[in-house]
Amino acid sequence: MALVTGGNRGIGAACAVALAAAGDRVAVASRGGSAPEGMLGVRMDVANTESVDKAFAEVEAEFGPVEIVVSNAGIVRDTLLATMSEDAFQEVVDTNLLGAYRVAKRAARPMMRMRRGRLIFVSSVVASTGGPGQSNYAASKAGLIGFARSLARELAPRNITANVVAPGPIRTDMTDALTEAQRAALTAQVPGGRMGEPADVAALVAFLASPQAGYISGALIPVDGGLSMGH
Ligand code: NDP
Repeated sequence: MALVTGGNRGIGAACAVALAAAGDRVAVASRGGSAPEGMLGVRMDVANTESVDKAFAEVEAEFGPVEIVVSNAGIVRDTLLATMSEDAFQEVVDTNLLGAYRVAKRAARPMMRMRRGRLIFVSSVVASTGGPGQSNYAASKAGLIGFARSLARELAPRNITANVVAPGPIRTDMTDALTEAQRAALTAQVPGGRMGEPADVAALVAFLASPQAGYISGALIPVDGGLSMGH
């Protein structure tokens, strides 16, 4: 069974739908606790260890151990370094990077016992390219790469893979919150000149979760219309 954090909307919801279409039982977690139709939604704040533990216990009680984790929950608090408060930096790292650590740590032990598992982390193209006003976000998303690659090494003997997907600009609530000018600047960097859809990311996530992807681990795979040219 699969658990998708931040799975109630945007990229996470598309991942949940794609995994369900591939035949997995799927639960989604978010602070709000809602879910795409027909899926179990649990409340989880990835910035709080107790909340992560409680949500996992709920999911395990319903479906048994989690075999696939999509660590997708993420936030932005963009501003230039000159005005970046320590609080804004910390909050983003606490959710995006430490949140992934809390979720992966809670998921890993049962996976180790089962001797199988898939950890998939949703990073961003900004991890490689940087982004003005996004030093906190880029740091958190770049941190995920080193984190996942370490897990890929640690957990390989237990048949657990850890991979990172790096979306470019994708049409979701997160990018709807940008101004028209900001969106135009983003899409101008994409060779195809358009934003991606959540389903574009979900297709890759579903593949990484599948048995066919068992020999892929420690990978960083962009879904960005060529923006990063593979980096
Ligand atoms: P949205 O803002 O649409 O969704 C974010 C999701 O994360 C929501 O489900 C939200 O649910 C959840 N979330 C946020 N904070 C927490 C928390 N503390 N605990 C649990 N859940 C939380 O974003 P997207 O779908 O666009 O983004 C999904 C991921 O993809 C993020 O990690 C983002 O950084 C990344 N990404 C997005 C890109 C884009 O262009 N859209 C590009 C590159 C990467 P709730 O508010 O109910 O908690």
